[in-house]
Amino acid sequence: MPSYYLNRTPQPNGAYEVHALGCPRLPLYRVHLGEFAQARDALHLAQRHYAPAQVCARCAAEPARR
Ligand SMILES: [Zn+2]
Repeated sequence: MPSYYLNRTPQPNGAYEVHALGCPRLPLYRVHLGEFAQARDALHLAQRHYAPAQVCARCAAEPARR
């Protein structure tokens, strides 16, 4: 299952973005959320600790490859 990370720098809209490992937009300042089968599972965990959170548009559109 792919690893997911949370961007610790909020987006302009105030939300923290969730990225899969390998995303070109994966930031350096990040938190490892864990390994999940789907991005939305990682999002649920992220929202519990870092609400509001959202999956990055690129990671939501493409299934993770690793
Ligand atoms: Zn991403």
